[in-house]
Formats: sequence, structure tokens, C-alpha cells
Amino acid sequence: MAQLTETQVLDVLRSVIDPDRQADIVSLNMISGLVVKDSNVGFSIEVDPRRGPQLEPLRQSAERAVAAIPGVTSVTAVLTAHREAPTAPAAPAKAGPAGGTGAKALVPGVRAIVAVASGKGGVGKSTTSVNLALGLKANGLRVGLLDADIYGPSMPRMMAITGKPGSADGKTLQPMENYGIKVMSMGFMVAEDTPMIWRGPMVQSALQQMLRDVAWGELDILVVDMPPGTGDAQLTMAQQVPLAGAVIVSTPQDIALLDARKGLNMFRRVDVPVLGIIENMSYFCCPNCGHRTDIFSHGGAKREADALGMDFLGEIPLDIAIRETSDQGQPIVMSQPDSEHAKVYRAIAAKVWAKVAGPQRGTPKIVIE
Ligand code: ADP
Repeated sequence: MAQLTETQVLDVLRSVIDPDRQADIVSLNMISGLVVKDSNVGFSIEVDPRRGPQLEPLRQSAERAVAAIPGVTSVTAVLTAHREAPTAPAAPAKAGPAGGTGAKALVPGVRAIVAVASGKGGVGKSTTSVNLALGLKANGLRVGLLDADIYGPSMPRMMAITGKPGSADGKTLQPMENYGIKVMSMGFMVAEDTPMIWRGPMVQSALQQMLRDVAWGELDILVVDMPPGTGDAQLTMAQQVPLAGAVIVSTPQDIALLDARKGLNMFRRVDVPVLGIIENMSYFCCPNCGHRTDIFSHGGAKREADALGMDFLGEIPLDIAIRETSDQGQPIVMSQPDSEHAKVYRAIAAKVWAKVAGPQRGTPKIVIE
């Protein structure tokens, strides 16, 4: 079976017509946050909030249309309220800047929450999240890892954790732990191959619960593996988590396709500082001879980062060792700490930490030695 593509999904969605506007929902730019993970598809349909309640049939026909594509096993379409992007350059987000006092109360023991995001799936966002978290740990920090990629949770596998989180008090869940990192993932609650149906409000409450109702304890940094994409669902998440900053993972091709720019814009809309960009699968290391080939016009990320005024945090090569170790639940930073790759991840981790722990705009910190 050929792999399902975003184009295939969009093609069938073009047959779904918005009854009020007599045009298809793709041409009307109503589809956002499209995620195709193996045979599972998720997307949101952006609608005017006033029309929301009447559009359930539209949502259902969109789901049915995609479900009819051969090979699709699950489809999740959510209606999301469409909001105009702020027109003034630095208009503050309505819900208050991320990291505002209301949100901070969610996870009081956690010093900084950092999102790892990507313009689309499959660029190595989860692999980067795990190795970044392990790099932060190796640098001496207390680290948590929150798998917010609820459409395709991969942390149980990558961190080699099985079983379900327990609860000592019947109210809060104990996070799972391995390699010295506290981990929470929807994948602990449901089997990895169970297609999950997420409706908009459920997505939000799942994330809030994983923050608020988990006994994270005292952490220096909580790394959040965001769902791929930059649509409204991701935007809502970015708004709900009191983020100290975001890191964007991109492959050289996606940089050319401006996906990194979309990520940057998404976080700007919610006032979250983008700490920088990591170029993943930057060049290819031949497993036999170690020869380096730049298959995807390497170096694009650095140029793009410069052009956008973003920091370039580092480049990770495409190397089978990175894939094998993370797919086996033995991420390279932990299993091969002396490797070049582990060094690069630790260096990136140090840069990220310097940015969030350094002097922060608007939030002076009192440090008692
Ligand atoms: P995403 O979270 O963006 O969907 P993943 O982290 O799941 O992506 O990575 C997708 C696949 O690519 C996985 O099999 C992973 O092991 C592999 N991968 C990620 N980064 C690299 C890399 N630098 N070198 C080799 N394989 C990689």
C-alpha cells in the first residue's frame, strides 16, 4: 500500500462544500493542522465561532470523505474557532501572553517549559525532543518530557517505558521515569496502535491534565514534544502552556518550503519567544565509511535563521545510528554519550538552557545563593 499523503487528503476534502459559502473547504482555507501519521489522519476545520454549532454536519462529511480513502484507519476532524491574526505588529494575544500568571499556576514547581515544534510530521521532532531532554539532563538539569503529540505519541517507545502511571493520592498522576527523566504521554494510557478520536475540547483538557494533574515535582525544564504542524490546534496548545520559549525542528527541504517560517509566525501570534531552529537530517553520514554527503542542500537552516532573525541552534545529520537508537528506546545521547551526535545534542541543550535561564525580559528573578 502506497503511503498516504497530505495531498491525497486535501484532494478529497475539496469535495466537501461549505453550504453557506458554496465553495469547498480547502479553497476557502478552512483546513489547518493537517496531520497524516501512517494511516491516521487529523485536521481542524476553522470556522467562524458563531457558525460553529450548525457546522457539525460539515465536520462529519469531511471525516467521512477522508475515511473513504483506501487505507485510512482513523480520521479526526475538529471544528476550531477561526481567529484573525493580530494586525498590529506586537498586539498582545487576547488570552494574555503565554507564561502569564494564570498559566504559571498550572505547574508551579517547573522553572521553564520549552516546546519543540515542527511545521509538519516526520522531520524528527520527537527524536530531537528526546535527545534534547537527555542532553539537558546530561548537563546536570532536572528534566521532564511531556509528549503532547497526542495524535502519535512516541515517547513510550523512544524512552523505553511501559506500564501505566500510578497515583498515590487518587488525584495526581505520578509521571513515569527512565534515564533520569520524568515522562508523561497519552501513549501510557492507550495502546500505541489504538486510533484515538480527539475532539477540540478533549485535546485541550488532555494537555492541561498532563500539566496540571501530574506530580512533576521540582524541575528545571520541561520539554514539550508538540504535535506536528502549525494549525489552529497547535496554536491553541501553544497558548495553553506557559511556554518560556519554543524550538523549531526542520529539515533542509522544509526550510526551503517555508515551514520553519510558519512555526515562527505561530509562536509570534501567541507571544512565545522562538529560541531558535535546529536543522535535522542536515547532511548524511555514510554508515560504512563515515563520508559526509549534503543530500538536501545543507546549510539552508542557518541562512534562513539569519534571514528571519532567529538563532541557529545546531545541525544534526541523518544517521542510521540516530534512528536505530531512538526506535529501540536507547536514544543516542544516553546510549552513546561519547559520540559526535551526543555532543551536538548536548551543545544544543546548553544553548537552549542559556536562553531560558538567562536574564528574561520582563520577569526579573531573585536568586538566593
Ligand atoms: P516527528 O516527531 O517529526 O514525526 P520522529 O522523531 O518520529 O519525527 O522521526 C521520524 C523518523 O525519522 C523516526 O524513525 C526517527 O528515528 C527518524 N529520524 C529522526 N531524526 C533522524 C536523524 N537525524 N537521523 C536518522 N533518522 C532520524
